[in-house]
Amino acid sequence: MFNQTKQYINGEWVESHSNETMDVINPATEEAFGKIAKGNAQDVEDAVNAADSVYLEFRNTSIEYRQNLLNDIVKEYENRKDDLIKAMTLELGTPITTSENVHYEMGLSHFKAARDALDSFNFRERRGDNLVMKEAIGVAGLITPWNFPTNQTSIKLAGAFAAGSTVVLKPSEETPFAAIILAEIFDKVGVPKGVFNLVNGDGLGVGNPISENEKIRMVSFTGSGNTGSKIMEKASKDFKKISLELGGKSPYVILEDADLDKAADAAVHKVVGNSGQVCIAGSRTLVPESIKDAFIEKVKEKMSAIKVGDPQDATVEMGPVINSKQFNQIQEFIKIGEQEGATIELGGEGKPEGLETGYFIKPTIFSNVDNHMTIAQEEIFGPVMSIITYSDVDEAIKIANDTKYGLAAYVYGSDMDTLQKVATAFEAGVIEINEHPRSADMPFGGYKQSGIGREWGDYGIEEFLEVKSISGFFQ
Ligand code: NAD
Repeated sequence: MFNQTKQYINGEWVESHSNETMDVINPATEEAFGKIAKGNAQDVEDAVNAADSVYLEFRNTSIEYRQNLLNDIVKEYENRKDDLIKAMTLELGTPITTSENVHYEMGLSHFKAARDALDSFNFRERRGDNLVMKEAIGVAGLITPWNFPTNQTSIKLAGAFAAGSTVVLKPSEETPFAAIILAEIFDKVGVPKGVFNLVNGDGLGVGNPISENEKIRMVSFTGSGNTGSKIMEKASKDFKKISLELGGKSPYVILEDADLDKAADAAVHKVVGNSGQVCIAGSRTLVPESIKDAFIEKVKEKMSAIKVGDPQDATVEMGPVINSKQFNQIQEFIKIGEQEGATIELGGEGKPEGLETGYFIKPTIFSNVDNHMTIAQEEIFGPVMSIITYSDVDEAIKIANDTKYGLAAYVYGSDMDTLQKVATAFEAGVIEINEHPRSADMPFGGYKQSGIGREWGDYGIEEFLEVKSISGFFQ
């Protein structure tokens, strides 16, 4: 049993003022495997006061000090590898191999990227007689979702620590244990008291008081658009800075000259990875009319080979989705897809055979999808591929951009000129050509309803800074 019913405030594990706890459920068994504190506004107040009392001191630490701190975090994070993998496999239900190769690695990469970005980051720039100075914004509230427990938290924490901002973190109540291990890591390496504070609990009890607290100068949020909009509204009361990383409905454009086998493989993995619970999932698959039938055969073959099941089994590629709400929502989208006239090529409603316990979903492929259908416009957040056809590249670009979202977009093919034409025409913040790996020093964030701001590496540090101009500094 995982058990941490205390909050980490001002460098210590302390009782929550609420005296209430919450169960944490393993989505593969539907049973509770852990308990956390169900924090309240008073816990947030204590955490904010702790962060506020040391923000000037932390802001004024040297770059070298913060770089060393991040380096120590990297080392201790590596020491806690097995614990992190175990916790994420239990709380998120990701296959043990994905917990290691994706989740563990992504979290680590952000601490390294922020550390390395400090090598060349300019906090001071001379312009004639004048100085442009960047300094930490002050106390930051960090609110994160469940789908990438180490990634989403580490992105924000690494950027804040590198900038010199103190923080109050509220991780998702569905996946709190990876964040609890991070707290233990920071405690072990001696992150100064008050710089990092962790308040566990739900959105109303903890997230809401964070967005309302006047001592918090910025809120960095990753999660759904609904919650993002509530946070923005609250932040508007005292003009807090906000950074929002929200949802997506990203297009995967397969070009006519693509290697069909490789393109199909890539397209399938962009939909089933993390059981489809990925903000940048390539869930709208755009294929030329001319190769539609051959492509459908290929993706059916690839998708049906995906092994779904117990996340503890190292041969499993896809585990359950996070909870019953998510399960039901995906079932509903599949039903709507059928009702609106799309064709189910694989999967469909219900659980995969032999997996009655746990929130398991059948990997599903829809063809004959029109881009205006619900399944092409709404974020399903499950392993559901919607295949849409196009007649020429210009039409593909038009369809790709015809969405309220603009987080990611993908293109796969051979001719470099066409690949570059499509990549630059996408209205989205994160683009990949031919599955080229994304590097942690590249900016990450969305256009349109996918969010406001950019994270990762030096862009992630900028988020936690204010800019000051001092005229006459060098007279
Ligand atoms: P969510 O919005 O339900 O919850 C996110 C966090 O906000 C949780 O910690 C939750 O407790 C908290 N919260 C809930 N209500 C709140 C309130 N009223 N005030 C303050 N905080 C509140 O999102 P989720 O279901 O955890 O995550 C899934 C969503 O996240 C998807 O839409 C996905 O696309 C998005 N996401 C985006 C990115 C990105 O980088 N753009 C990355 C991952 C996930």
